[in-house]
Amino acid sequence: MKALNEMKLSFDSRSSNEAFARTAVGSFIAQLDPTVAELSDIKTAVSEAVTNCVVHAYGDSIGKISINVKIIDSNTVSIRIRDTGVGIENVKQAMEPLYTTSPDDERAGLGFAVMQSFTDGVRVNSKVGKGTTVTLLKRIACRVNNG
Ligand code: ATP
Ligand code: MG
Repeated sequence: MKALNEMKLSFDSRSSNEAFARTAVGSFIAQLDPTVAELSDIKTAVSEAVTNCVVHAYGDSIGKISINVKIIDSNTVSIRIRDTGVGIENVKQAMEPLYTTSPDDERAGLGFAVMQSFTDGVRVNSKVGKGTTVTLLKRIACRVNNG
């Protein structure tokens, strides 16, 4: 997909980087002048995807997480979050609300459900042993500027 503007990030899968990731994506998207609610939705969805990479992708070890943000047009943004970890065997099942492989770690199994309700599209590509790519699509309402 061709982009009007694009940025890429790569960082360690440490939980201390979760706040960095959501803030960095939010700062980049701020140029589209989103509403507070739209910005908050995007940051929440990014947080869930990044947390999944931190918690599930690399087990007890540390790997890389990469994020690619593309501003497609003045009201559409695409955010790709990728890891090269264990992958997901059954993506359809993993995306079902309340499905979790870590019930003992106080996981609710709601991460994908949150991503779906806070964005306009979630696509998951995953290969066992190769990693997972989550692509979030968000539309930013176009506001007429009479100023
Ligand atoms: P919660 O997000 O509510 O804390 P959760 O992370 O288990 O719980 P989801 O985010 O919906 O719930 O993810 C569902 C399941 O999909 C996870 O339990 C895990 O098995 C799998 N999963 C999600 N993301 C990844 C990933 N990046 N790598 C490997 N497995 C993943
Ligand atoms: Mg999760």
